[in-house]
Amino acid sequence: MRIGIDLGGSHVGVGLVEEDGKILVKKEYNLLVKEKQRVQEVIIDKIVQFVNEILDENHHILENMKQIGIASPGTVKDGKLYHLVNLNIDEFDITEKLNEYFNIPIKICNDAKCAAIAENLYGSMKSYEDHIFLTIGTGIGGAAFYNHQMLVPKQNPGFEFGHMIIQKDGNVCKCGKQGCFESYCSIKALKKQVTSYLQLEPDISGKELRKLIEENIQDPGLDEILERYVEYLSIGLSNLINIFEPQAIGIGGSFAHYEELLLERLKERLYRKDLLFNKNDVVEIRLATLQNDAGIIGAAML
Ligand SMILES: [Zn+2]
Repeated sequence: MRIGIDLGGSHVGVGLVEEDGKILVKKEYNLLVKEKQRVQEVIIDKIVQFVNEILDENHHILENMKQIGIASPGTVKDGKLYHLVNLNIDEFDITEKLNEYFNIPIKICNDAKCAAIAENLYGSMKSYEDHIFLTIGTGIGGAAFYNHQMLVPKQNPGFEFGHMIIQKDGNVCKCGKQGCFESYCSIKALKKQVTSYLQLEPDISGKELRKLIEENIQDPGLDEILERYVEYLSIGLSNLINIFEPQAIGIGGSFAHYEELLLERLKERLYRKDLLFNKNDVVEIRLATLQNDAGIIGAAML
């Protein structure tokens, strides 16, 4: 039995996970705006409370847990978190803080990589030995797998797929570079273009936005935005395919909400093959199947 924790831009989720990746129970908390002042403290309090409650309510003791795993946005290095923009955190030694309460191994990894680990073991990628899994949402993150093993560099976490440059002198990215893949192909980037074109409020929900795109799908300007998005996405994916030669690419994150609008267009563009070095093999494109549970499951299995 293991404990998986998913730390989001505005929520904390804690789950009790079996060795086969099933979540037995899960508790979640949405951080309040006023709590952002003392967000590190609130996160630790909530994790400690949820872990203890989950253990008590399910008649388990901490010593029987193999580990606690944490999926977090931002950069993760040596057990510490850096640059959690949405939580207003610069540096957070979450492992040290949790070690004061829990005397079992605590592991931590970037949320996109945790989702990739979960999808590799139990989700959309489990039948592919060599694959790439991407989370496309506010940004783009992911991981690469050969023989079901995630590639892990020694120096830095690596696999910053979202920050490969696909356009010289292109859009300025939050990382400071220009022309990064995620500055064209994150759902945030797509949303920004569509809301600006249709003159909508920038904070419109994903659901409403999708509905409006569907209603205006005959609009040539909107069609051009979607075509350009898919073109850049195909360039990014083809770069990954040409380098890694995966059998499949899995896609998670809020991209999945736009499946009907984007997935077929993407496959059609990619399978035209002018972007691919090896033109004979078909790389499967699959959507994630574990959705919101992927972070907790992947973290538990780190
Ligand atoms: Zn970048």
